[in-house]
Amino acid sequence: MDPYTLDRDGLAALLERFGERAAPSYRVRQIRRWLARGVDDGAEMTDLPATLRAQLVEAFDPSPRVLRESTADAGLTRKVLLECGGPGGEAVESVLMLYPRSRRATVCISTQAGCALGCPFCATGQAGFRRQLGLGEILHQVTVMQRLLARGVGVTDAPDHVTNVVFMGMGEPLANLEPTIAAVRWLTGRPEEGEGFGLSARSVTVSTVGLVPGIRRLQGLGLPITLAVSLHAPNDALRDDLVPVNRQHPLADLLAACRDYVAATSRRLTFEYVLIEDINAGGDDARKLAELIRGGFPDGPVPHVNLIPMNATPAVPWRAPPTAAQRAFAAVLEGAGIPATLRRNRGTAIDAACGQLYADYALSSGRTLPAAEGAAQRLEAVAATRPAPLGRKP
Ligand code: SAH
Ligand code: SF4
Repeated sequence: MDPYTLDRDGLAALLERFGERAAPSYRVRQIRRWLARGVDDGAEMTDLPATLRAQLVEAFDPSPRVLRESTADAGLTRKVLLECGGPGGEAVESVLMLYPRSRRATVCISTQAGCALGCPFCATGQAGFRRQLGLGEILHQVTVMQRLLARGVGVTDAPDHVTNVVFMGMGEPLANLEPTIAAVRWLTGRPEEGEGFGLSARSVTVSTVGLVPGIRRLQGLGLPITLAVSLHAPNDALRDDLVPVNRQHPLADLLAACRDYVAATSRRLTFEYVLIEDINAGGDDARKLAELIRGGFPDGPVPHVNLIPMNATPAVPWRAPPTAAQRAFAAVLEGAGIPATLRRNRGTAIDAACGQLYADYALSSGRTLPAAEGAAQRLEAVAATRPAPLGRKP
């Protein structure tokens, strides 16, 4: 069993089954304090009696194993491949990014092995869905990095602990909703009570492709986490192709959910927008996007737009527009009073940048997924009829 899924009563029942004689609430507190420190291997819970330690080792799922580690950007970016048990023997990838100047250590974690939502530009989507990750498997990605940092990663001024967590790795967090919500609670709960890792909610970001029911559930949590919504297109016609789940949750519904989220939490929302040359990165797209956002959020904080230059992925030939065009796109948004930043991508040398994680899964059909293929063809047709993008000489 996964120890992180057991509440206090569940743990007490387990101890009772073991015939543990000490007051259960005392032992439960001891075990939960270890879990809150990221230790889920019974053998390492050194203040417990040896028999109980052995029973816990027997009862708890084994910790996922690190299969591979690779680094890039002079040690500032580190990708870890974790083996998760289970029927398919799946593996997932997580990324640690160090920002010594601001004393930040950000972990980008996965919530699913693969993804079923098939955004054609994304390697995880191209690889297809393998399985959901459990709560322990999600949290482990954080605790593995925590251990690396505590041991020292050989980078001057690197923090010795995780400071930020972003749900931007493999998979769609809100398509694995309960474990995602439980993970947010564990990340932000108070360690002294054995309730969590003690991160501030503001340093946790959940990125979603825009699953409306999930956004409404997150809103109900009442935690000031940062919500990032992947937009990628200023209208339904283009978004239907770039983000196929838009057919179930079109822009009007998505923006209504985002508006409600902002009204209820008073938090500034982030929109993510992957810039793909000749597809969604022209001046017209920028102006339409500005209109959509200005019109959608007349009151409350205007969402921030995070522009992500497209990273190369195996199944499609698309790429980021030239830097001048990226800046011009950002300038259009800024001009309309919408805060916009260009994300500096990390880890491209080790396939660790946004959208590049696929844990070496064989892509479903050679190098192109059927779903990606159809969308790619439609988009090539769209691209052929579009005016030259910003920043590029005709
Ligand atoms: N499923 C969630 C979270 C994981 S992806 C989501 O889609 O939001 C995290 C971010 O990386 C998303 O904004 C996603 O659109 C973006 N992304 C995917 N593929 C990319 C690529 N090839 N280049 C740049 N960003 C990409
Ligand atoms: Fe899934 Fe997000 Fe990739 Fe789309 S961008 S396929 S939702 S992981």
